[in-house]
Parts: sequence; C-alpha cells; structure tokens
Amino acid sequence: MESATSQYERAAARTALHELTEIKGKPDDHVDREELKATYKSRMVPGKSPGHHVYNQLKSVPRHGICPLCGQRLVETLDHQLPKSHFPLLAVSPTNLVPACSSCNWIKSSTVPERPEEQTLNPYFDDVSSHQWVFATVNESETAPPSIRYYVKAPAEWNRVLAARIDLHFRTFGLADLYGAHAAQEISGMRFFLGNLDSRAMSHYLGGMAESIAANNETGGLNHWRRVMYQALASSSWFVAGGYKRF
Ligand SMILES: [Zn+2]
Repeated sequence: MESATSQYERAAARTALHELTEIKGKPDDHVDREELKATYKSRMVPGKSPGHHVYNQLKSVPRHGICPLCGQRLVETLDHQLPKSHFPLLAVSPTNLVPACSSCNWIKSSTVPERPEEQTLNPYFDDVSSHQWVFATVNESETAPPSIRYYVKAPAEWNRVLAARIDLHFRTFGLADLYGAHAAQEISGMRFFLGNLDSRAMSHYLGGMAESIAANNETGGLNHWRRVMYQALASSSWFVAGGYKRF
C-alpha cells in the first residue's frame, strides 16, 4: 500500500489535499494516532530528543530564517500543513512540516481544506514567485495619515483555483495589515533621507530599490512587501512631490 507521506505529496502537488480522506485519522486507530502525535512532540521537538536535528534542519531551510507563510516574521516552529490532530499518519512526514513563525502557525491552527480553493500556499509545492501577484497603492491623504494598501491580483494566465488560493492565503494570514504597518514604519524612517533628494533623484532611488529587491528571489523577489512598497511609492507623483513628509 502506498505510504501516507507519498499519498500526501502526490495530492499536494496537484492541489488535492481535500481528497485525502483515506489517511484521515479514524476512531478505531486511536492508539496509532496518539502514538504518532506523541512521536512528534517527544522525539522531534524537545532539544535533546533523537529527532531534534531533523526538526532543526527543517526549521533552518528558509533563507535568513524568515517565515515562508508571511514572508516577514522569524521562523520559530514547524507548521503541519495538514494538522496532526486530523492526520496523525502525517505527523512526522517532512513535507507536511512547513517552517513557520508562531503567529502563522497559530492562525492556521487545525484547519483542514475541504475544497482545492481552501489550501493556503505551501512553499514546498507552490512556486508563485515568477509573477507579480502582490500589489500596493499609496492612500494619498492630506487630512488623515496616509498609508500603503496591499492587495492581491492574480496574473491572467493563472487558473481560478490558484487565484482563489492566493487571495485566501493573503486574508488568512492578515498580510495586508502586516505589510501596511511595516511599510508605514519604513517610510517614516526614510523621510529624512528623502528630504535631501529632488523629485527626479527620489523617483530614481525608489524605482531602483524596487528593481533591486525584485531581482533576487532569495532576498525578496517580485512579491516581497518592500519591493511592492517601493514600486507603489515610485509611481505616486503625490508621494514624490512631498507626500512622503506626511508619513
Ligand atoms: Zn509567518
């Protein structure tokens, strides 16, 4: 019989985790279920347990230790893509263990997708880095504090399911608010420096930063919130003409 791990991997590769009903925990395998969950908790997570090096190895995969689910906070744990409470047979399958920050891990909790559209992105199986799908605009305001509004928009060539999944991913992990807050703080920190540039030099600088971050997937890429922020700032004539002073 095909192992639970390989069934999972085949399903994950074709966005069909919702079809994995066969390996879902059943009441009659309570003992196995508890055993596998305990294996993860006692033999992988604790510092001196035999499987801890595997746990650490998986956690250290993301470049610079940044959580691949939010792209912002630090990796602190491993998230079970399919929760161990429902899929004990996948409790210790490496490809079901995604390095994550505590917030993303907590947000995702034990949700189980029931349709293809309900799968959040998985860094092992979903490469969505070749197209831009995160965008932002500057909320230009002279009365209220200005802000950066992030949103997603799928490229025309993507299928409906992937378009729905990026939207779900963005909403589930609260990325518009997370990125908006960090962007506003970053811009406040640049205000003094930008004040030394004329509008032409400022546009050049902002556009150059967007290009530089976009050029390297390992340090950002097309969809990194900083790249998207610089792109939005460079295209806002309001910002360049003095709007930056209001952040
Ligand atoms: Zn995260």
